[in-house]
Amino acid sequence: MAGEQTGNETQKSTRKFGRGAHECQMCGRKQGLVRRYNIFLCRQCFREWARKIGFKKMD
Ligand SMILES: [Zn+2]
Repeated sequence: MAGEQTGNETQKSTRKFGRGAHECQMCGRKQGLVRRYNIFLCRQCFREWARKIGFKKMD
């Protein structure tokens, strides 16, 4: 089939986008990201971070 695009670059799993886009700023994870207060942290780092700044909602 004639196509305008070569179907060869469709699946590249090793393509990295700009850093710090949507990943944890502390450990670099992309799972369970918490986007609050202009920060990007995974849930684990968010808890650590919250403790450091004295986040009062740890119940
Ligand atoms: Zn993290």
